[in-house]
Amino acid sequence: MRIGRDAQPHLRAHRSAGRSTADQLRALRIALLAGAFIAGSIGLSGLWSGMALPALHGSTRALEATRPSTTAVEAEVAEGQSAPGGDTAAAVAAAGAKTQPGDPPGWVRIPKPAISGPRKVGIQAGHWRTSEAPPELRQLIDQTGTSWAGYTEWETNLDIAERVAAILRAKGISADVLPTVIPPGYVADAFVALHSDGDGTGDKSGFKLAHSSRRTPHEDALQRHLTEVYAAATGLAYDAAGISGGMRGYYAHSWSRVRNSTSPFTPSVILEMGFLSNDNDRGLIVDEPDRLARAIAAGILNFLEATPRDALFGQDLVVPPAPPRRSPTPTPGT
Ligand SMILES: [Zn+2]
Repeated sequence: MRIGRDAQPHLRAHRSAGRSTADQLRALRIALLAGAFIAGSIGLSGLWSGMALPALHGSTRALEATRPSTTAVEAEVAEGQSAPGGDTAAAVAAAGAKTQPGDPPGWVRIPKPAISGPRKVGIQAGHWRTSEAPPELRQLIDQTGTSWAGYTEWETNLDIAERVAAILRAKGISADVLPTVIPPGYVADAFVALHSDGDGTGDKSGFKLAHSSRRTPHEDALQRHLTEVYAAATGLAYDAAGISGGMRGYYAHSWSRVRNSTSPFTPSVILEMGFLSNDNDRGLIVDEPDRLARAIAAGILNFLEATPRDALFGQDLVVPPAPPRRSPTPTPGT
């Protein structure tokens, strides 16, 4: 759902309504709308901020389990790591957050970005140029991705990212191929981080996508379009069981914790294109990069067509408070 300024008139109208039957009906409808908004907001924020809203949730334990981690990139490379997260205050400031009278206490408002010109897409080549990671992301420096049979993940990620960008540019879209360190508060109509998996045995196969929870509703749509086209083009199974906390908490999507992340306005997903360690998957990645690139570009184009720019950037985002920083204790499995 969208979190925007339009909720405030509903809430105000609810308080003052009730003079006639018509008014009462209208008030009831508005109250339902406002209630739906609040429930939706809590549902959305709860995934991310379960620890901050203990009174509103029956079970914080289940929510805690889905708390994204910004200390891990993905399961296969971050197992057992417990590096500290980024500077939250600097990250939120980089996103342009501010408070405004009338907004709920503690919530922050992120003004809609000024963006013009052609549609813009960022394609990140996972693990490319990790040596440039700033102090907040220093744990990424050693995470050069998976490798198998002489192929290294960052190289195949970059190869496919460049092919996707070329297809998009031919369609008149402004496409950036981005390294590990992306510009703070990166604004685009879509952002896709490309990665590949490795299981150490060659057994596992499949692709998967994820996005973080403290964002707009558009990540779901981008993910859906990509999944649809990618599955059809590759014949790969969707590896839902392999989606890790590290994918959902991918650092480049964690705008409220990591400065070098996409803007909360930028629909952002991570795509694990397949297992580099699997013969079939690697055959696609290495021998048929154009097939993968065409599928990824098509998924993005379908999303852009279905999602006009005004739907992405038409109004401010108003988001609930961040949970308190926790000590950097290890989070198993992310
Ligand atoms: Zn990777």
